[in-house]
Amino acid sequence: MQKFELNKLIRENVKGLKPYSSARDEYVSDGSEMIFLDANENPFQNGVNRYPDPQQRSLKSVLAAQKGISEANILLGNGSDEVLDLLFRAFCEPKVDNIITLPPTYGMYKVLADINVVENREVLLLENFQPDMHTILNTMDTQTKMIFICSPNNPTGNSFAAESIEFLLQSFQGLVVIDEAYIDFSLEDSWVSKLSDYPNLIVTQTLSKAYGMAGIRLGICMASEEIISVLNKIKPPYNVNELTQQRALQRVMNLEEINQEVENILKERKALEQTLKTIQFVEQVYSTDANFILAKVDNASLRYDQLLKKGIVIRNRTTQPLCENTLRFTVGTHKENEFLIKALKELP
Ligand SMILES: *Cc1c(COP(=O)(O)O)cnc(C)c1O
Repeated sequence: MQKFELNKLIRENVKGLKPYSSARDEYVSDGSEMIFLDANENPFQNGVNRYPDPQQRSLKSVLAAQKGISEANILLGNGSDEVLDLLFRAFCEPKVDNIITLPPTYGMYKVLADINVVENREVLLLENFQPDMHTILNTMDTQTKMIFICSPNNPTGNSFAAESIEFLLQSFQGLVVIDEAYIDFSLEDSWVSKLSDYPNLIVTQTLSKAYGMAGIRLGICMASEEIISVLNKIKPPYNVNELTQQRALQRVMNLEEINQEVENILKERKALEQTLKTIQFVEQVYSTDANFILAKVDNASLRYDQLLKKGIVIRNRTTQPLCENTLRFTVGTHKENEFLIKALKELP
Protein backbone atom coordinates (compact mmCIF):
# COMPACT_ATOMS: atom_id res chain seq x y z
CA MET A 1 0.00 0.00 0.00
CA GLN A 2 1.08 3.56 -0.75
CA LYS A 3 2.07 5.78 2.15
CA PHE A 4 -0.86 7.85 3.38
CA GLU A 5 -0.35 11.56 2.71
CA LEU A 6 -2.71 13.89 4.50
CA ASN A 7 -1.29 16.87 2.62
CA LYS A 8 -2.77 15.55 -0.63
CA LEU A 9 -6.24 15.57 0.89
CA ILE A 10 -6.34 19.07 2.37
CA ARG A 11 -7.94 21.76 0.22
CA GLU A 12 -5.46 24.32 -1.10
CA ASN A 13 -7.27 27.30 0.45
CA VAL A 14 -7.24 25.57 3.84
CA LYS A 15 -3.55 24.73 3.61
CA GLY A 16 -2.71 28.38 3.14
CA LEU A 17 -5.26 29.70 5.62
CA LYS A 18 -4.28 31.85 8.55
CA PRO A 19 -7.02 31.27 11.13
CA TYR A 20 -8.86 34.09 12.89
CA SER A 21 -7.09 34.74 16.14
CA SER A 22 -9.56 35.56 18.91
CA ALA A 23 -8.75 37.42 22.11
CA ARG A 24 -9.08 34.22 24.13
CA ASP A 25 -6.74 32.43 21.74
CA GLU A 26 -3.98 34.98 22.20
CA TYR A 27 -3.85 35.13 25.95
CA VAL A 28 -4.28 31.86 27.79
CA SER A 29 -4.82 32.29 31.51
CA ASP A 30 -2.65 30.26 33.88
CA GLY A 31 -5.41 30.43 36.48
CA SER A 32 -4.05 33.41 38.42
CA GLU A 33 -6.21 36.51 39.01
CA MET A 34 -6.02 38.72 35.91
CA ILE A 35 -7.92 41.70 34.62
CA PHE A 36 -9.43 40.92 31.22
CA LEU A 37 -9.81 44.02 29.08
CA ASP A 38 -9.01 42.29 25.80
CA ALA A 39 -12.31 41.06 24.32
CA ASN A 40 -14.80 43.90 24.67
CA GLU A 41 -16.94 41.86 27.02
CA ASN A 42 -19.28 43.33 29.61
CA PRO A 43 -17.21 43.09 32.83
CA PHE A 44 -20.14 42.44 35.21
CA GLN A 45 -20.18 38.77 36.19
CA ASN A 46 -23.30 36.73 35.45
CA GLY A 47 -21.74 33.35 34.70
CA VAL A 48 -21.67 33.78 30.92
CA ASN A 49 -20.38 37.32 30.37
CA ARG A 50 -16.99 35.99 29.20
CA TYR A 51 -16.32 34.24 25.90
CA PRO A 52 -15.99 30.48 26.33
CA ASP A 53 -12.68 28.62 26.08
CA PRO A 54 -12.17 28.15 22.31
CA GLN A 55 -10.29 24.90 22.98
CA GLN A 56 -12.65 23.55 25.69
CA ARG A 57 -9.65 22.42 27.72
CA SER A 58 -11.44 21.18 30.88
CA LEU A 59 -13.92 19.10 28.92
CA LYS A 60 -11.28 17.73 26.55
CA SER A 61 -9.00 16.65 29.37
CA VAL A 62 -11.76 14.49 30.91
CA LEU A 63 -12.80 13.08 27.53
CA ALA A 64 -9.19 12.35 26.55
CA ALA A 65 -8.62 10.39 29.76
CA GLN A 66 -11.84 8.43 29.28
CA LYS A 67 -11.13 7.59 25.64
CA GLY A 68 -7.46 6.81 26.25
CA ILE A 69 -6.19 9.41 23.77
CA SER A 70 -4.55 12.82 23.97
CA GLU A 71 -6.38 16.16 23.96
CA ALA A 72 -4.61 16.90 20.68
CA ASN A 73 -6.58 14.02 19.12
CA ILE A 74 -9.93 15.68 19.89
CA LEU A 75 -11.99 18.38 18.24
CA LEU A 76 -15.35 19.32 19.74
CA GLY A 77 -18.21 20.84 17.78
CA ASN A 78 -21.76 22.14 17.98
CA GLY A 79 -23.12 18.60 17.55
CA SER A 80 -21.65 15.95 15.21
CA ASP A 81 -23.34 17.86 12.46
CA GLU A 82 -20.84 20.71 12.78
CA VAL A 83 -17.95 18.28 13.05
CA LEU A 84 -19.01 16.51 9.85
CA ASP A 85 -19.44 19.83 8.05
CA LEU A 86 -15.91 20.86 9.06
CA LEU A 87 -14.61 17.64 7.48
CA PHE A 88 -16.21 18.56 4.15
CA ARG A 89 -14.88 22.09 4.31
CA ALA A 90 -11.36 20.97 5.17
CA PHE A 91 -10.96 18.15 2.67
CA CYS A 92 -13.46 18.36 -0.19
CA GLU A 93 -13.01 20.78 -3.06
CA PRO A 94 -16.50 21.77 -4.28
CA LYS A 95 -17.38 20.42 -7.75
CA VAL A 96 -14.13 18.44 -7.90
CA ASP A 97 -13.95 15.93 -5.08
CA ASN A 98 -16.39 13.21 -4.12
CA ILE A 99 -17.34 11.16 -1.08
CA ILE A 100 -18.85 7.71 -0.69
CA THR A 101 -21.84 6.96 1.53
CA LEU A 102 -23.59 3.66 2.09
CA PRO A 103 -27.39 4.03 2.10
CA PRO A 104 -29.63 3.36 3.85
CA THR A 105 -27.75 5.52 6.36
CA TYR A 106 -27.75 8.77 8.29
CA GLY A 107 -29.20 11.47 6.02
CA MET A 108 -26.88 14.25 7.11
CA TYR A 109 -23.87 13.05 5.05
CA LYS A 110 -25.77 13.64 1.82
CA VAL A 111 -27.18 16.99 2.98
CA LEU A 112 -23.68 18.19 3.89
CA ALA A 113 -22.31 16.96 0.57
CA ASP A 114 -25.05 18.89 -1.25
CA ILE A 115 -24.47 22.06 0.79
CA ASN A 116 -20.75 21.87 0.06
CA VAL A 117 -21.29 20.99 -3.65
CA VAL A 118 -19.46 17.70 -3.27
CA GLU A 119 -20.53 14.66 -5.28
CA ASN A 120 -22.05 11.96 -3.09
CA ARG A 121 -21.43 8.49 -4.58
CA GLU A 122 -23.92 6.12 -3.05
CA VAL A 123 -23.11 2.44 -2.75
CA LEU A 124 -26.13 0.59 -1.38
CA LEU A 125 -25.63 -1.82 1.48
CA LEU A 126 -26.16 -5.50 0.68
CA GLU A 127 -29.41 -7.24 1.61
CA ASN A 128 -27.90 -8.12 4.99
CA PHE A 129 -27.15 -4.40 5.56
CA GLN A 130 -23.38 -4.97 5.30
CA PRO A 131 -21.12 -2.83 3.07
CA ASP A 132 -20.77 -3.98 -0.54
CA MET A 133 -16.97 -3.99 -0.56
CA HIS A 134 -16.61 -4.94 -4.20
CA THR A 135 -18.74 -2.02 -5.43
CA ILE A 136 -17.16 0.42 -2.97
CA LEU A 137 -13.71 -0.38 -4.36
CA ASN A 138 -14.98 0.05 -7.92
CA THR A 139 -16.63 3.36 -7.05
CA MET A 140 -13.67 5.15 -5.50
CA ASP A 141 -11.20 7.15 -7.56
CA THR A 142 -8.41 9.64 -6.93
CA GLN A 143 -10.93 12.40 -6.12
CA THR A 144 -12.65 10.34 -3.42
CA LYS A 145 -11.73 12.13 -0.21
CA MET A 146 -13.92 10.46 2.40
CA ILE A 147 -16.02 7.39 2.98
CA PHE A 148 -18.69 7.55 5.68
CA ILE A 149 -19.17 4.44 7.77
CA CYS A 150 -22.03 4.65 10.26
CA SER A 151 -21.61 1.77 12.69
CA PRO A 152 -23.93 0.91 14.37
CA ASN A 153 -25.81 2.15 11.34
CA ASN A 154 -28.85 4.42 11.45
CA PRO A 155 -31.59 3.37 10.53
CA THR A 156 -30.75 -0.33 10.20
CA GLY A 157 -29.25 -0.69 13.71
CA ASN A 158 -26.53 -3.20 12.82
CA SER A 159 -22.77 -2.84 13.12
CA PHE A 160 -20.58 -3.34 10.08
CA ALA A 161 -18.16 -6.24 9.97
CA ALA A 162 -14.85 -5.20 11.52
CA GLU A 163 -12.95 -6.92 8.68
CA SER A 164 -14.66 -4.70 6.10
CA ILE A 165 -13.84 -1.52 8.01
CA GLU A 166 -10.28 -2.68 8.59
CA PHE A 167 -9.87 -3.43 4.90
CA LEU A 168 -10.94 0.11 3.99
CA LEU A 169 -8.60 1.61 6.57
CA GLN A 170 -5.75 -0.36 5.03
CA SER A 171 -6.50 0.16 1.36
CA PHE A 172 -8.24 3.52 0.95
CA GLN A 173 -6.02 6.56 0.41
CA GLY A 174 -8.70 8.98 1.59
CA LEU A 175 -10.26 9.40 5.02
CA VAL A 176 -12.42 6.73 6.62
CA VAL A 177 -14.97 8.51 8.83
CA ILE A 178 -16.59 6.15 11.33
CA ASP A 179 -19.70 7.64 12.90
CA GLU A 180 -20.11 6.00 16.30
CA ALA A 181 -23.18 7.93 17.48
CA TYR A 182 -24.63 4.66 18.85
CA ILE A 183 -21.45 2.91 20.01
CA ASP A 184 -22.43 3.02 23.70
CA PHE A 185 -25.40 0.73 23.02
CA SER A 186 -23.23 -1.80 21.22
CA LEU A 187 -21.01 -4.65 22.39
CA GLU A 188 -18.57 -3.89 19.55
CA ASP A 189 -15.36 -2.02 20.39
CA SER A 190 -14.94 1.60 19.41
CA TRP A 191 -12.42 2.27 16.63
CA VAL A 192 -10.89 5.02 18.77
CA SER A 193 -8.36 2.51 20.09
CA LYS A 194 -7.05 2.12 16.51
CA LEU A 195 -6.26 5.80 15.96
CA SER A 196 -2.53 5.25 16.32
CA ASP A 197 -2.63 2.42 13.76
CA TYR A 198 -4.42 4.31 10.97
CA PRO A 199 -3.53 7.89 9.96
CA ASN A 200 -6.65 8.00 7.74
CA LEU A 201 -9.09 7.12 10.54
CA ILE A 202 -11.58 9.65 11.89
CA VAL A 203 -14.05 8.62 14.59
CA THR A 204 -17.03 10.77 15.52
CA GLN A 205 -19.18 10.41 18.61
CA THR A 206 -21.85 12.56 20.19
CA LEU A 207 -23.42 13.45 23.52
CA SER A 208 -26.84 13.38 21.85
CA LYS A 209 -27.73 9.71 22.26
CA ALA A 210 -26.44 7.53 25.14
CA TYR A 211 -25.17 10.56 27.06
CA GLY A 212 -28.65 12.08 27.04
CA MET A 213 -27.67 15.60 26.01
CA ALA A 214 -29.12 16.19 22.55
CA GLY A 215 -30.24 19.63 23.71
CA ILE A 216 -26.79 21.05 24.43
CA ARG A 217 -25.29 20.08 21.03
CA LEU A 218 -21.90 18.49 21.53
CA GLY A 219 -20.15 16.39 18.91
CA ILE A 220 -16.75 14.76 19.28
CA CYS A 221 -14.24 14.19 16.51
CA MET A 222 -11.23 12.00 17.20
CA ALA A 223 -8.33 11.60 14.79
CA SER A 224 -4.58 12.07 14.37
CA GLU A 225 -3.08 15.31 15.69
CA GLU A 226 -2.46 16.35 12.08
CA ILE A 227 -6.10 15.98 11.08
CA ILE A 228 -7.32 17.72 14.26
CA SER A 229 -5.02 20.68 13.66
CA VAL A 230 -6.43 21.13 10.14
CA LEU A 231 -9.96 21.19 11.58
CA ASN A 232 -8.90 23.60 14.32
CA LYS A 233 -7.76 26.05 11.66
CA ILE A 234 -11.22 26.33 10.15
CA LYS A 235 -13.58 25.92 13.09
CA PRO A 236 -15.41 29.03 14.33
CA PRO A 237 -13.45 30.18 17.41
CA TYR A 238 -16.28 29.88 19.94
CA ASN A 239 -18.19 26.99 18.38
CA VAL A 240 -18.96 25.29 21.72
CA ASN A 241 -20.73 27.69 24.07
CA GLU A 242 -20.05 28.10 27.79
CA LEU A 243 -23.30 26.50 28.98
CA THR A 244 -22.66 23.45 26.80
CA GLN A 245 -19.10 23.10 28.08
CA GLN A 246 -20.28 23.28 31.70
CA ARG A 247 -23.18 20.85 31.35
CA ALA A 248 -21.14 18.40 29.28
CA LEU A 249 -18.35 18.41 31.86
CA GLN A 250 -20.80 17.67 34.70
CA ARG A 251 -22.29 14.83 32.71
CA VAL A 252 -19.12 13.11 31.51
CA MET A 253 -17.79 13.14 35.06
CA ASN A 254 -20.81 11.04 35.99
CA LEU A 255 -20.29 8.01 33.73
CA GLU A 256 -21.93 5.81 36.36
CA GLU A 257 -25.30 7.45 35.79
CA ILE A 258 -24.93 7.27 32.00
CA ASN A 259 -24.04 3.58 32.19
CA GLN A 260 -27.09 2.87 34.33
CA GLU A 261 -29.36 4.60 31.83
CA VAL A 262 -27.77 2.66 28.97
CA GLU A 263 -28.28 -0.61 30.87
CA ASN A 264 -31.91 0.30 31.37
CA ILE A 265 -32.38 1.16 27.68
CA LEU A 266 -30.76 -2.13 26.64
CA LYS A 267 -33.08 -4.08 28.92
CA GLU A 268 -36.06 -2.24 27.47
CA ARG A 269 -34.77 -2.79 23.94
CA LYS A 270 -34.68 -6.53 24.48
CA ALA A 271 -38.25 -6.58 25.81
CA LEU A 272 -39.46 -4.39 22.94
CA GLU A 273 -37.72 -6.58 20.34
CA GLN A 274 -39.41 -9.66 21.72
CA THR A 275 -42.82 -8.07 21.82
CA LEU A 276 -42.53 -6.61 18.33
CA LYS A 277 -41.98 -10.12 16.99
CA THR A 278 -45.39 -11.16 18.36
CA ILE A 279 -47.34 -8.33 16.70
CA GLN A 280 -49.41 -9.78 13.85
CA PHE A 281 -48.56 -7.13 11.23
CA VAL A 282 -44.81 -7.12 12.01
CA GLU A 283 -43.00 -9.22 9.39
CA GLN A 284 -39.40 -8.85 10.51
CA VAL A 285 -37.54 -7.32 13.43
CA TYR A 286 -33.95 -6.54 12.49
CA SER A 287 -31.30 -7.14 15.12
CA THR A 288 -29.89 -3.95 16.56
CA ASP A 289 -26.79 -2.61 18.31
CA ALA A 290 -28.37 0.82 18.87
CA ASN A 291 -31.15 2.40 20.97
CA PHE A 292 -33.72 1.88 18.24
CA ILE A 293 -35.27 -1.04 16.41
CA LEU A 294 -36.05 -1.27 12.71
CA ALA A 295 -39.00 -3.49 11.85
CA LYS A 296 -40.64 -4.47 8.59
CA VAL A 297 -44.44 -4.34 8.67
CA ASP A 298 -47.30 -4.98 6.26
CA ASN A 299 -47.90 -1.29 5.47
CA ALA A 300 -45.53 1.22 7.10
CA SER A 301 -47.43 4.38 6.20
CA LEU A 302 -50.73 2.96 7.49
CA ARG A 303 -49.18 1.80 10.77
CA TYR A 304 -47.33 5.10 11.17
CA ASP A 305 -50.58 7.06 10.83
CA GLN A 306 -52.42 4.76 13.20
CA LEU A 307 -49.81 5.20 15.92
CA LEU A 308 -49.75 8.95 15.36
CA LYS A 309 -53.50 9.07 16.04
CA LYS A 310 -52.77 7.39 19.36
CA GLY A 311 -50.21 10.07 20.17
CA ILE A 312 -47.09 8.02 19.42
CA VAL A 313 -44.50 9.37 16.99
CA ILE A 314 -42.11 6.89 15.41
CA ARG A 315 -40.07 7.14 12.20
CA ASN A 316 -41.39 5.83 8.89
CA ARG A 317 -38.35 4.70 6.86
CA THR A 318 -40.27 3.25 3.93
CA THR A 319 -38.79 5.64 1.35
CA GLN A 320 -35.21 4.63 2.20
CA PRO A 321 -33.51 2.10 -0.08
CA LEU A 322 -33.80 -1.50 1.19
CA CYS A 323 -36.22 -0.22 3.84
CA GLU A 324 -39.57 -0.58 2.12
CA ASN A 325 -42.35 -0.82 4.72
CA THR A 326 -40.02 -0.38 7.65
CA LEU A 327 -40.58 1.62 10.82
CA ARG A 328 -37.93 2.77 13.25
CA PHE A 329 -38.80 2.68 16.95
CA THR A 330 -36.62 4.55 19.43
CA VAL A 331 -36.48 2.74 22.77
CA GLY A 332 -38.17 4.92 25.39
CA THR A 333 -38.77 4.59 29.12
CA HIS A 334 -40.46 1.48 30.47
CA LYS A 335 -43.75 3.38 30.66
CA GLU A 336 -43.47 4.74 27.13
CA ASN A 337 -42.62 1.32 25.73
CA GLU A 338 -45.56 -0.26 27.57
CA PHE A 339 -47.84 2.37 26.07
CA LEU A 340 -46.39 1.67 22.60
CA ILE A 341 -46.83 -2.07 22.99
CA LYS A 342 -50.41 -1.69 24.18
CA ALA A 343 -51.14 0.57 21.19
CA LEU A 344 -49.51 -1.87 18.72
CA LYS A 345 -51.56 -4.76 20.07
CA GLU A 346 -54.76 -2.78 19.70
CA LEU A 347 -54.26 -1.68 16.10
CA PRO A 348 -56.97 -3.01 13.75
C1 LIG B 1 -28.19 11.13 15.99
C2 LIG B 1 -26.99 10.92 15.15
C3 LIG B 1 -25.90 11.79 15.23
C4 LIG B 1 -25.91 12.91 16.21
O1 LIG B 1 -25.72 14.13 15.66
P1 LIG B 1 -25.56 15.37 16.65
O2 LIG B 1 -25.42 16.50 15.70
O3 LIG B 1 -24.32 15.12 17.47
O4 LIG B 1 -26.78 15.44 17.50
C5 LIG B 1 -24.78 11.53 14.45
N1 LIG B 1 -24.75 10.48 13.62
C6 LIG B 1 -25.78 9.63 13.53
C7 LIG B 1 -25.68 8.45 12.65
C8 LIG B 1 -26.93 9.84 14.27
O5 LIG B 1 -27.96 8.99 14.15
